Amino acid sequence: MAFPSRLIEGYRAFSQYRLPGEQDRYRELAQSGQAPQVMVIGCCDSRVSPEVIFDARPGELFVVRNVANLVPPYAPDGAYHGVSAALEFAVGALRVRHIVVLGHAHCGGVQAFAEERAPLSPGDFIGRWMSLLAPAAAKLEARREAPDYLGRLERASIVNSIDNLMTFPRLAALIAQGRVTAHGAYFGVATGELSVLDRATGEFVRVGGSY
Ligand SMILES: [Zn+2]
Repeated sequence: MAFPSRLIEGYRAFSQYRLPGEQDRYRELAQSGQAPQVMVIGCCDSRVSPEVIFDARPGELFVVRNVANLVPPYAPDGAYHGVSAALEFAVGALRVRHIVVLGHAHCGGVQAFAEERAPLSPGDFIGRWMSLLAPAAAKLEARREAPDYLGRLERASIVNSIDNLMTFPRLAALIAQGRVTAHGAYFGVATGELSVLDRATGEFVRVGGSY
């Protein structure tokens, strides 16, 4: 099975055009180790790459992506917890200053939850994973038939994930001390617009940009 030619071409373009400008930075980062200030929790969706949206350079963003950018609640139960492990590392070792939950429009995971789609497989990892959305859906006053219901659920889910961040005791303490700040952001896939959650009002406010 051949390695995907698109990736070979992409790597060639990277090594020809981008790497020369970043080579020193990569060397420095290799020596000193990474020290990103920002952790982003994003969706696996191929259209919503945090490094692209935030025009990030190597070493700037510590990114964990999962289906529908969800943060599970703190659960030290001996099971495998990828997001919690990434959070622990970001907060405990890297000492990031900001944690951004980045949601987006047209999220397939959120849509599957809202439409109560049949599981893709008998194991149904997605169904169980998406059940993390239930508290957000329960709090939402809008009904499923309401205009932009999916958008509202996508944004409510971001707030719910931030609430779940607060269930991690060490992280909650750092947030209370003002040493870490939790943020929500929402990317409009079709428009390219970014909105940022105003925690005081609960509203998502569009970020000005030249689009
Ligand atoms: Zn998504």
